[in-house]
Amino acid sequence: MATVQQFDTILKNGRVVDPVNGTDGQFDIGIRHGKIAVVSEDIPNERGDDIIDASGQIVMPGHIDTHAHLSSPQDRNVDRSYGHPMLVESGTTTALDLAGDPTLMAEGMRRRGAGLNVATLMGLVPHMTISEDDPRPSIIRDVIADVKTRGGIGVKMLGGYHPFTPEASADVVAAANEQLAWVAFHVGSKDSSSDMTGLREVPEITGKGRLHVAHINSYTRGMIDEPHEEVNEALAMIEVMRSQWVTEAYLAQANGTNGKCDENGDVIYNVMQNCLKARGYPTTDEGVKAALLDGYGSALIERGGRVVMVTGQNAVDIWESASTDASLSFPVNPPTSAFSLATARYDDGTFKVDAISTDGGSLPRNVAIERSMALVAFGALTMGEAVTKLSYTPSRVLGLLNKGHFSEGADADVTIVNAQTGKASMSLVAGDLIMLNGRAIGKGGTWLVLDEGVAAAEASDLAYEVMNLENSKLYANWN
Ligand SMILES: [Zn+2]
Repeated sequence: MATVQQFDTILKNGRVVDPVNGTDGQFDIGIRHGKIAVVSEDIPNERGDDIIDASGQIVMPGHIDTHAHLSSPQDRNVDRSYGHPMLVESGTTTALDLAGDPTLMAEGMRRRGAGLNVATLMGLVPHMTISEDDPRPSIIRDVIADVKTRGGIGVKMLGGYHPFTPEASADVVAAANEQLAWVAFHVGSKDSSSDMTGLREVPEITGKGRLHVAHINSYTRGMIDEPHEEVNEALAMIEVMRSQWVTEAYLAQANGTNGKCDENGDVIYNVMQNCLKARGYPTTDEGVKAALLDGYGSALIERGGRVVMVTGQNAVDIWESASTDASLSFPVNPPTSAFSLATARYDDGTFKVDAISTDGGSLPRNVAIERSMALVAFGALTMGEAVTKLSYTPSRVLGLLNKGHFSEGADADVTIVNAQTGKASMSLVAGDLIMLNGRAIGKGGTWLVLDEGVAAAEASDLAYEVMNLENSKLYANWN
């Protein structure tokens, strides 16, 4: 007697969009043991232990966010671990925590985890996570090796906040490449700023190496030239560096920054200075205060287990009670830049900017999926292209070969999107529901580590998976 395969879960009647397999139409998906078992036109209900009705909804491989914030070596008034439920509620299933600390991320995942897969980069903060602001190559090497044993996959340079010299920045790229560790760059050095002047230095800093150039849209805000001119210049640079860079851009207008001022009342961080200059405010504590009171800027605060933005006197109170060292946000990202960077293609149809990210998580701007769906509604992306930028390409970027598609045996990470609202309504990781009707219901998560981080992951009691960056686009054809 032939045995009929039984499934743990069947996703019924959704519009399944899986561009790499050429699928876009109404199908059922059978899930077994956390993996995709079959995608088929009709799977009888009796073959599933659980049935999820996805009628009228878009069923796509889970969103992989290549730029999110779930931990921070310098957490102050906002605990980044709130980003776990916030990302999950926007439909994300896997995230790269871009400037955190692996030990803190793991603690946050235990405390507030909501079922995400997370890999963490450590932010390089002088006198905090690295001993000095002009580190020698041997120091950089040791810091990167240590991050890997603590479960991180690499490091991020925070040029808009803690810039190194161009030479030390190049040393960071080289040291990370040598160890096959991830390396991301919020551009800017001691010779430049967090804008096009910073981006123009990056080809030389990259040398013959490999680099993740973070949030391209953050350098095309019109600080030096007109936004569209900056977009064109950035895209031309990306084309030249095509085989060496991975890139992402986000679709939110709101940025994230910090309002810290020195003892003279001058704004310390370059990103914050730019936010003020963009609207003609002085780069002083008085300028920050006026920008918050005018409703231009917002402060971030935890409310009900999520991070929200407040403005006006409330925001000033938060900023002052943090002695100015508070997380703030300004709507400085031009939609025109975001649109151009999200949709720019080469002649062969592949996208110039690899991925659509959030740069969110604990920042309340997790709009990658809903704004990508708006681009689909507008006709700027096909549905298949949106899924390519949200899921498939990010999976290749990170070398997560079992994600980003619904081939048999792939991880059953799924984002289900309401076709009317464009917002995620449900998601699954490894076949388990982690979000339902916009509420996070998952717990914990899966820590993505390198081989060197296995001992740390074992000791954490968290579920973990080992990544191999040799499979990543960052290190494609390396050596
Ligand atoms: Zn970021």
